[in-house]
Amino acid sequence: MPSPFVVSIAVPVPLRKTFDYLPEMSLPDPEHYTPGKRCKVPVGQRTLIGVITGIHHSPQVPQDKLRPIKQILDPHPTIPSNVLQLAQWISDYYHAPLGEVLINALPPLMRQDRSWEKLSNSLSTILWQATPGADSTGLRGAKQKALLELLIGMPEGLSQPDIINQGYTTAQLRALESKQFAHSTQVRSRPGKEAPVTSSKPTLTTEQQQALQQLIGVSPGFTTTLLEGVTGSGKTEVYLDWIEHRINNNASEQILVLIPEIALTPQTLRRFKVRFGEQVVSYHSAMNDSERLLTWIQVKEGEVSVVVATRSGILLPFKSLGGVIVDEEHDSSFKQQDGARYHARDLALIRGQHSQCPVILGSATPSFESLNNADQGRYHYVRLESRVSSTPLPRIHLIDIKSRPLEGGISPPILQEISSAISAEEQVMVFINRRGFAPVIMCVDCGWIAECRSCDARLTYHRRQQSLKCHHCEKQYRLPTSCPSCESKNLKPIGAGTERTEEYLEQQFPDVPVIRIDRDSIQNKGSLDQKLLPIRQGHSCLIVGTQMLAKGHDFPNLSTVAVLNADGGLFSSDFRSTEKTAQLLIQVAGRAGRREKPGKVFIQTQFPEHPLLQYIQQHDYRGIYASEMAMRKQGHFPPAYSMALIRGEASSLEDTLNSLWKLRDLMETCENHLPSIHGPFPSLIQKKQNRFHGLIWLFSADRSVLRKFLRHWLGMMENQKLKLPGKFRWQLDVDPIDTL
Ligand code: ADP
Ligand code: ZN
Ligand code: ZN
Repeated sequence: MPSPFVVSIAVPVPLRKTFDYLPEMSLPDPEHYTPGKRCKVPVGQRTLIGVITGIHHSPQVPQDKLRPIKQILDPHPTIPSNVLQLAQWISDYYHAPLGEVLINALPPLMRQDRSWEKLSNSLSTILWQATPGADSTGLRGAKQKALLELLIGMPEGLSQPDIINQGYTTAQLRALESKQFAHSTQVRSRPGKEAPVTSSKPTLTTEQQQALQQLIGVSPGFTTTLLEGVTGSGKTEVYLDWIEHRINNNASEQILVLIPEIALTPQTLRRFKVRFGEQVVSYHSAMNDSERLLTWIQVKEGEVSVVVATRSGILLPFKSLGGVIVDEEHDSSFKQQDGARYHARDLALIRGQHSQCPVILGSATPSFESLNNADQGRYHYVRLESRVSSTPLPRIHLIDIKSRPLEGGISPPILQEISSAISAEEQVMVFINRRGFAPVIMCVDCGWIAECRSCDARLTYHRRQQSLKCHHCEKQYRLPTSCPSCESKNLKPIGAGTERTEEYLEQQFPDVPVIRIDRDSIQNKGSLDQKLLPIRQGHSCLIVGTQMLAKGHDFPNLSTVAVLNADGGLFSSDFRSTEKTAQLLIQVAGRAGRREKPGKVFIQTQFPEHPLLQYIQQHDYRGIYASEMAMRKQGHFPPAYSMALIRGEASSLEDTLNSLWKLRDLMETCENHLPSIHGPFPSLIQKKQNRFHGLIWLFSADRSVLRKFLRHWLGMMENQKLKLPGKFRWQLDVDPIDTL
């Protein structure tokens, strides 16, 4: 007998549609198929985890061609409707398969074949309590007596592991249970509601107070506010008070705080914990699977009020979302770089709309997208112009190194400045955006340069590991003892990375600690925090590091910042390079002089007259924005135009470009109005890991035109089965950040 209905299921396969299945044999009732339940379904020869999106009565294929669901994993919809709604939006906007979006929205343990019961049991512990009225006087064994008395003394119960830790056995517990003196229950620990007793919470400055009032004063419902506050203006303190205000007014409200990388800024998370205690949880990929599952459930059950998370936190199943803060909103780590390439900042606005709650975007260097939106009146705009300490922003000096020798990457005038700061027992930060000892190893006799065999890239010399590393594919090579081309022994490291600068500074300043912070020196979660300890303690020291140092750190005693290699960003073919370089330089400079004494910043450059550096010297971020926006408008680049790109790769450049041409030819046959199409052309780094990369760029003045066009074209791609070389892969990236 045919089933009266079929079930639509989003399955994690790269096709942009849901699939029909017959109900599970033993569960013929439509009520069993509510949207948001996970289930196991056959897909070809495999079994995958899919998510039910609904039932209907008109399958596209006859029922005898449909297969039944293998098993429903959740007794209730685990994925709430707000996450389904957001996933649907992502799927439409980024043209990504709904099933893939949904599976990635789940914590890793829920992507597996595990029933809801198993998952929730894995997070609970066994709690033992004495039976009311139980009396130990009748018990014979001394141990049993003591155990029962222990339980009687803890009426709220004691967890089994705690009991075992105190020297008792499960046999003794079972014995008490069989005599009905004690009983056990499965419970999950729940965070306490009590706010911690905060010793000191700073009184907001007048400017902070005004900003807070503006944020509080926005109309109810969905609004977006851009909070532009110079480095050290106390944005975080404003967020904290704003959150406190929200949850004091409505205790069930939950606030999401998105930050770029939690591991890099342990300090930020700590400040939230100090203020909100157990009501704060974090969510990020460095957490283990059960920690992530636990947070996911706590958020869904409304047990926590504040979630501090990296980009994937935007997909959490909030029970009652009351606001979203995106801190350092300009940071490119909010953009997902594979699968559904969503931008968490942009999704924050969509969630705000869906939940009718306010969204705050904060930064000292807002993205040009957000500044443009604020300028056009789409966002409220709030500004913090001065530092909390009312110390002026640091003075920025441009050091011309055109005809100056560098040692360890450092020019004599900068060495002099570092030296006087160290004599004054201050802290100095040296920023060099390159890890390793030297970016190039060259044969002095014949000019040979070490290159990666799988990539178009030079190898970086890592002295500590005595190896050459490719920073694109991470492949390691042994350091050659002689030149492979002329056998000369005269191989020389050229240029400097963090290791070399560290070594040089150690020689120059043997009496102060030199702390190196980069991806090689920071291996695990805790080590950054530990390395930063002497810096926070305020002793005089030298910090050498990469852009890891630019992110949100607050080092009270740092007086001097030296930037060794700013020039790379001045002449790049990336249309965002000026924006990115400006953000980086301003953020790095912003680490200096955050307390009483004004800071000093020195930027080494061959091009001191370069307009970007001139603006930076004046702290004129708006000037950079204005001149760049004029260029973006002229060049039809975002945010003036909306953009998408297709990335293709194959095992030869010819295959890549030919295949991309076929995609483009099909685009030409779309009847929709065509946005402007550029390419295909080879990527900036053509060869990576033996694959050859190419691009097609698409632009349109009207976002919805581009979207309709892409939808139409993707539909044709799915129907027309173009003949493309087997090794060719391609992806679509809507609103790309990396465009080369
Ligand atoms: P931002 O995020 O804007 O760079 P932070 O919020 O990190 O700035 O503030 C910088 C430092 O100033 C922090 O150590 C913070 O605790 C401190 N601070 C912020 N506001 C105040 C205030 N009103 N009074 C005293 N200290 C403050
Ligand atoms: Zn040679
Ligand atoms: Zn490589």
